Amino acid sequence: MRLSQMLFVTLRESPAEAEIPSHKLLLRAGYIRRVGSGIYAYLPLMWRVLQKVSRIVREEMNATGAQECLLPQLQPAELWQESGRWDTYTKAEGIMFALGDRQQRELGLGPTHEEVITAIARDLIRSYRQLPLNLYQIQTKFRDEIRPRFGLMRGREFIMKDAYSFHPDEASLKQTYQDMHQAYSNILRRCGLKFRAVDADSGAIGGSGSQEFMVLADAGEDQVLFTEDGKYAANVEKAVSLPVDPVPSGFASHENRATPDTDTIQKLCKFLDCSPTQIVKNVLYQAVFDQGQTVLVLVSIRGDQAVNEVKLQNALTNLAGEYGSKTVLSLTVPDVEAQTKWAAQPLPLGYIGPGLANSYIKPAKPAPVGRQATGAVIAKFLRLVDKTAVDLTNFVTGADEAGYHVVGANWQNQAAKTKPAKDQQDSLLPSAFYPLPSLVVDVRTAQVGDRAVHDPSQTLQSARGIEIGHIFQLGNKYSQAMGATYTNEQGEEVPLVMGCYGVGVSRLAQAAVEQSYDKDGIIWPVAIAPYQAIVVIPNLSDAAQVEAASKLYAELNAAGIETLLDDRAERAGVKFKDADLIGIPYRIVTGRSLAEGKVELVNRASHSSQEVELAQVVEKLKQAIAAACAG
Ligand code: ATP
Ligand code: MG
Repeated sequence: MRLSQMLFVTLRESPAEAEIPSHKLLLRAGYIRRVGSGIYAYLPLMWRVLQKVSRIVREEMNATGAQECLLPQLQPAELWQESGRWDTYTKAEGIMFALGDRQQRELGLGPTHEEVITAIARDLIRSYRQLPLNLYQIQTKFRDEIRPRFGLMRGREFIMKDAYSFHPDEASLKQTYQDMHQAYSNILRRCGLKFRAVDADSGAIGGSGSQEFMVLADAGEDQVLFTEDGKYAANVEKAVSLPVDPVPSGFASHENRATPDTDTIQKLCKFLDCSPTQIVKNVLYQAVFDQGQTVLVLVSIRGDQAVNEVKLQNALTNLAGEYGSKTVLSLTVPDVEAQTKWAAQPLPLGYIGPGLANSYIKPAKPAPVGRQATGAVIAKFLRLVDKTAVDLTNFVTGADEAGYHVVGANWQNQAAKTKPAKDQQDSLLPSAFYPLPSLVVDVRTAQVGDRAVHDPSQTLQSARGIEIGHIFQLGNKYSQAMGATYTNEQGEEVPLVMGCYGVGVSRLAQAAVEQSYDKDGIIWPVAIAPYQAIVVIPNLSDAAQVEAASKLYAELNAAGIETLLDDRAERAGVKFKDADLIGIPYRIVTGRSLAEGKVELVNRASHSSQEVELAQVVEKLKQAIAAACAG
């Protein structure tokens, strides 16, 4: 392609809308153009990159035996109602664009395709003889992200490869899951990316085991915790670890103490001169379940730990049945305004204890006769205790009164364990013992420096990652809900076992830039660069230069090397700058040495240049490209 004939517009300044390097560079270099919030046009250079990534994805998928198809983006609401995800996706996460057609039928724009594919499998898969089966597509997905940002990293319309596999049993699923793990590793390696596969939370997609493929980059939205020995890596949303041991409590007797202005753990520790590991802090959340109930959740956790809201959401989802619900629509820390809706009196914020009285919640109004109570607030705290707080003895916690804490407190079931000295027994008030909530959960956030579970001599380290792919073992969540069964060898009708596997094609392309750029612009990995070479004519009025360049341009393309020709009437400096900015791996300049039958060959990544005989350019580049793509 000749630049003089292309839509080729580069910008000198970084557009104000862009925050991270890859977003700035793709805008400046004319790869993408913003059309609306989270909505981008892929301009010709970008489209070539996306097609190259897609081709690599396709080759690796085909190599596993998966078959390509194309599923509809318009999806009837009924399918999502069958799986039970319509409300979660349109109301709770609110991530699905829902619309009505002219007959007032509800539809969603596909954010993902489990429902559609399961409905197809239900109709077409009858027997174990048809299994296993793996279908994939490469297609635009729609998601109404709360915070679309960073260009293609988090768009509201983006390209994804999604695959769905069907199996007779778990063993077969595990085999395909392994194959996909390998395929994903191959894809990322071939695209020239540094990555790590990590244990992940399965989120609203559901199922049991899942792993994410993280491209390591400072701008990544995810935090990855890993050990040096390479044996453990997990998204912080999912990560587990051993918390540091608590410092034994020095508060032998139970007392209610005035602790003015100590509404944070830090201030309290300073005031009482104690360790945060001796404190039970109580964090209040407000959860709304899909049948409309609002539940106030009081989580007791050790003072040095933080609640992991993803784990908490999962724990609450497991309890949804108790509220006649299936999912949690929202989980928030109630602000002052939210509190006024249900609090019978102001809460002792910063001084809450595990035994905070239920009378802080206004009694529920009975529903009008014949109607179900909707939006009702359950007049009782749901009390959860994190594992880190269960074994604490003589701990410090809130006294349910502003400016006061209790020291030397214990859980009721530990009354036997903590034998106070004889002379202290009298001072031990009955209220020194809190009933231990029956629901013990693991909702703590693993932290950098924690000891690893698999080997306590290893400590967790942290890196930022961009989630490029996610593979899931779904099990029978969707097949069960939607009645997708098959007849097994014994002649029984049983639900299909499923897996699903996604790669963000457009996110991957931008992540490659985030991992590979310098002050001059993008440095594309050769395998996914829009063009492999660019021939630059420094001086258009020099006929010899024009002729040599045109000849090289034709020869390179004929040899299968995708080549641009910068034949614009611009200064040489502008051309070199643009070639660097758009990141084409090899630049060939028909400059001064042309008189000796040579051209300059510049490597974009290293900036190194060499003089090459005209007749050797094609061969030299072929070798360089083959070597770069093999790596
Ligand atoms: P995230 O946590 O980043 O929102 P997700 O868990 O919602 O991702 P999946 O549903 O597993 O993602 O989708 C599969 C892949 O699609 C992701 O690994 C990611 O690469 C890509 N992806 C997801 N959401 C977006 C988006 N809004 N823009 C671009 N790519 C996306
Ligand atoms: Mg998402």
